[in-house]
Amino acid sequence: MAEVLPVPPREGAQTVKPREIFLRALKRQEVPRPAVGSATSVITIDLMDATGVSFPEAHLDAAKMADLAAAGHTLIGFDNVMPLFSVWHESAAMGCPVEWGERNRMPDCRGGIYGIEDEISIPKDLLTRKECRVPLEAIRLLRRRFGDEVAVVGKVFGPWTLGYHLFGVEEFLVNTLLKPDAVRRAIDTLKEVAVEFGRAQIEAGADALCLGDHATRDLCSPEAYREFLQAVHSELNERIPCPLILHICGETSDRLRHIRETGIDCFHYDSKVPDSTARRLAGDRLALMGGTSNIEVIRNGGEEEAVRDVEEKLAEHIDILGPECAVPLDAPYRNMKVLAEEVKKVG
Ligand SMILES: [Zn+2]
Repeated sequence: MAEVLPVPPREGAQTVKPREIFLRALKRQEVPRPAVGSATSVITIDLMDATGVSFPEAHLDAAKMADLAAAGHTLIGFDNVMPLFSVWHESAAMGCPVEWGERNRMPDCRGGIYGIEDEISIPKDLLTRKECRVPLEAIRLLRRRFGDEVAVVGKVFGPWTLGYHLFGVEEFLVNTLLKPDAVRRAIDTLKEVAVEFGRAQIEAGADALCLGDHATRDLCSPEAYREFLQAVHSELNERIPCPLILHICGETSDRLRHIRETGIDCFHYDSKVPDSTARRLAGDRLALMGGTSNIEVIRNGGEEEAVRDVEEKLAEHIDILGPECAVPLDAPYRNMKVLAEEVKKVG
C-alpha cells in the first residue's frame, strides 16, 4: 500500500500577510486572494466617531493622523493604510494658505499664489515644515504599529496638481497654450517636490506611494498628457524607489495607453472608466486599483451592491479592489468593510 504523505500546507490567504498580498498585487504577482485597499482617503464621519479622532485635527497632528489612518485596516479590513487624507500637505508647505476644513469638510485653498512666469523655488526646510513633518511622522508611527502585517501607503502630488495649487487652475491651464515653456519650467521645478517628499516618506516607512496628478480629460487632453506629463511620470517612477500608484480621477481611457508606457506599477482608476475597458487598456503589466463608485456603491449602496461590485471587479481581474477616489465624508464605512469581507472570502 502506498504511503500517504502529509499534504504540505498550501500558501493561502491565511498564511500570507495583508501587506505582502497588497504589494504583490501592485506588481501583478501571484496572490492567494485579490488585494483590497485604497490609495486615497477612506475617512468618513462615522469612522471618526468610531475612532474618536476627527478632522481637522487629524490633518496636522501625527498621532491622531496615524490613529485615524489605522482604522482603514483595523475597522474596515483593508490590506493597507494611508494617512495623507487631503491633497494639500506639500502645497501648504510650499506656501499655499490652506484652510484645514472642519469635521465634515475637507481642507481647501482658493486661488494660486504665483504667476506662471514667477520663479518658484522649493524651501530648503520643506520636509521639516509642519505640513510635511506631520505625515512623515504618522507614516513612522504606522510602520512601527503594523510592522510587516499591513502595507503603509504614502502620497505625493505630481506637478500638474501642484501647478493647479500654486498658480491656480485657470492660470496654469491657460498657459499650457499661451506659454508652454513657462509651464514646462514650472513642472520641472514642481516634480522635485514629489521626489523629495516621496523619498522622505519611503525613508519613514512607506511601502508604496500614491502619485496623485489630476490630468483628467476635462482639464488635460491626451495630447497635453503626452506633451507635458508622460515623460515626467516615467522619470518620477525611476527616481522614487518604491511602487507608485498613479491616481487620476475621471474618465481616463483616452490616456491609459500612455500611462501604461510610463512604467508605473499601478493605476488607481475612476468608475467613469468601465472595468473591462480599464483592464484591456492597462494590459498585462499595469496593475489596476479602485474603480468602485463612491456614490452608487460606497455612499448610496448596501451589502447587495457591494457584493455585486466585487464580483464585477474580480471578473475583470482588477488587482486591488476598493473605492475610486477619496470617499465622501458622509458615506457609511460599512460598505467598504463589506467589500473587504467579500474579497477575503475569495481567498
Ligand atoms: Zn480622485
